[in-house]
Amino acid sequence: MKLFLKKTSVIIWLFIVLCTVFTGCGRTAPLTRKVDTAMGTIVSQTLYSSQGTDLAEEILREIRLLEEECLSWRMEGSEVYAVNAGAGLMDGVAVSEELVSVLQDCRKVSAASAGAFDITVGKVVRLWDIDSWAAMEDASDFVMPKEEQLQDALADTGYDKISLEANYIVLPARLQLDMGAVGKGIALDKVRNVLDDYEVEGAVISVGGSILTYGSKPEGGAWNVAIVNPHDTSQNIGVLKLVGEWCVSTSGNYERYVEKDGVRYHHIINPKTGYPADSGISSVTILCKEGLYSDALSTACFILGEEEGRKLASEFGAEALFVSNSGEIIMTPGMEQYFHLSNKAN
Ligand code: FAD
Ligand code: MG
Repeated sequence: MKLFLKKTSVIIWLFIVLCTVFTGCGRTAPLTRKVDTAMGTIVSQTLYSSQGTDLAEEILREIRLLEEECLSWRMEGSEVYAVNAGAGLMDGVAVSEELVSVLQDCRKVSAASAGAFDITVGKVVRLWDIDSWAAMEDASDFVMPKEEQLQDALADTGYDKISLEANYIVLPARLQLDMGAVGKGIALDKVRNVLDDYEVEGAVISVGGSILTYGSKPEGGAWNVAIVNPHDTSQNIGVLKLVGEWCVSTSGNYERYVEKDGVRYHHIINPKTGYPADSGISSVTILCKEGLYSDALSTACFILGEEEGRKLASEFGAEALFVSNSGEIIMTPGMEQYFHLSNKAN
């Protein structure tokens, strides 16, 4: 009897071990990769999920809907487009509570950065039009906006002039919203909600310079999020090794810019001057839990520079890594545990 029990328990143990090994392998979620475009940039998805293909489609649909129906200042039919078209209307423009909530969060970053981050810089951004020039093969015809044009456009800015009510927005005449500094981060927050609704083991989603990590790799270990060297974009300066949910956004002067007579004019505007920001840094990477904040803070910190940028990041519980114009890497103490220099990245 004892022998029988022993044999039976050995068989049961063997069965459990084999089941764990084989069904464990079988349970490993399949890998889906998808690359598309939205918000004027590349959206790339790496998903470990049994619903990978459907999920990837759903994520892309959500990002495009967010752009077309809510955030785009270029597409007729979006809420932001309607707000811009309704600038100067006494009663404002009816919008979703979602957009009002997004603008409230933007206002927090604007106030904390003393207006460095300001979504009402739309007119100044249009005057420079760096996005269009940067996309051209030959930008030798680029002409800088005139000082008086810039001063006129600057007079039509000011985040604190926007009135936000429960579901409508009043934008003073001539002000124009531009969501370029924050839209991709907002997209990541949407994507996280979609991932929560599916069976997902792990995912990394990047929308331009903003990246969301989610869950874990089937084989274990951290996600590696590379940080580009702004002085040689074919190289990375290192990686952030991240486990679980994080948002990472980088703002820099190395992607959307035009060069004329040896001067580089990039797309991040200092609202105090009307000119491309020049605070001694070439890029800044922000790490935090929410996409809206990682994106908004990366733009704000790029304008403020290292010293003020560090303070701003800490106010929002975010970590920051700056690459100076001379190539020096400076980071908040909390960032050190995640950052691995390129030659130590493995
Ligand atoms: P970030 O630092 O995150 O943002 C820089 C951008 O923010 C600038 O390009 C400008 O738009 C704006 N900005 C500049 N200075 C400030 C400031 N001080 N405060 C606040 N905002 C500022 N690109 C295209 O080429 N075509 C498109 O059709 C297009 N559609 C888009 C639709 C959406 C919803 C979004 C979010 C982006 C879109 N873009 C498009 C890209 C956009 O124009 C910007 O170039 C891009 O978002 C820059 O992101 P970044 O991460 O490089 O820099
Ligand atoms: Mg940004």
